[in-house]
Amino acid sequence: MSAYADLHLHTTKSDGNLSPTELIRLIEKTPLKVVSITDHDSTEGIAEAIEAASKNTSLEIIPGIELGTDVPGTEIHILGHWIDPTDSMLQNHLEEFRMGRETRARKTVEKLSTFDIDIDINRVFEIAQGAVGRPHIAQAMVEKGYITYPQQAFEKYLGKNGLAYVSRNVLSPREAITLIKNAKGVATLAHPREAENVEALLPDMVDAGLAGIEIYYKDYSETDKSRFQTVADRYNLIALGGTDYHAFGTPGEMAPGPVGPPEAEIHKLKQLASLAHK
Ligand code: AMP
Ligand code: ZN
Ligand code: FE
Ligand code: FE
Repeated sequence: MSAYADLHLHTTKSDGNLSPTELIRLIEKTPLKVVSITDHDSTEGIAEAIEAASKNTSLEIIPGIELGTDVPGTEIHILGHWIDPTDSMLQNHLEEFRMGRETRARKTVEKLSTFDIDIDINRVFEIAQGAVGRPHIAQAMVEKGYITYPQQAFEKYLGKNGLAYVSRNVLSPREAITLIKNAKGVATLAHPREAENVEALLPDMVDAGLAGIEIYYKDYSETDKSRFQTVADRYNLIALGGTDYHAFGTPGEMAPGPVGPPEAEIHKLKQLASLAHK
């Protein structure tokens, strides 16, 4: 178990429940040396995290992002590590994505009401301190006693095949990878096991410039890891990962740290990033 790096973490700037500062304080209690803040459609947590860790010389923070993409029938998420948060093309897109999230939240709440689930959209926006997402709607459902844990909302209503699922406008995987690369970031396929038929989608993503794949992810078994190590070897992708920590409070939720990629992979990531930033 490597506790060197955790490259997939969320904060209150998207659907995490810890502020960037709170997350860094938690991380400082672990042996982690390199972490990345990868909020959905927002880079707003990065500066706060860096500031919170500024007195800690043994913790490195990589600016990151997580983008949802549009693939029929499945969910493909792309991570960008070492993106330049000041890139205006990136920020313009992120702003659009966040507006699309608000529209989608409204539509989801309307759809839920047809199943006699009455959630106040204003409460959802209050819960969401940053980019609004389905977990905020799930949390509002918990508050009103419809379910016990946010996870349960996804099973029946909010998951891609759920009764109240609403899509939103996002980029294709190819476009998301290009956006990340143009912002000097290194693009990685997040949680590949969670995508249907991912092996068939990979050649196009690799062609667009995908550089990594998450292998050291949360609850992946040795079988999962060897499946995706084979993919990484075939396409010459670096093997990254992390806990995808959100502080949801779900029983058994893994805290930051234990699964992340080994130091050698972080060195490869840094080499790619330094080429991109030349
Ligand atoms: P959104 O950004 O609104 O598309 O919501 C995506 C987020 O919802 C993911 O990053 C997870 O945090 C959460 N999520 C997605 N699927 C599930 C699931 N099946 N169970 C619990 N949480 C999920
Ligand atoms: Zn999330
Ligand atoms: Fe994701
Ligand atoms: Fe994530």
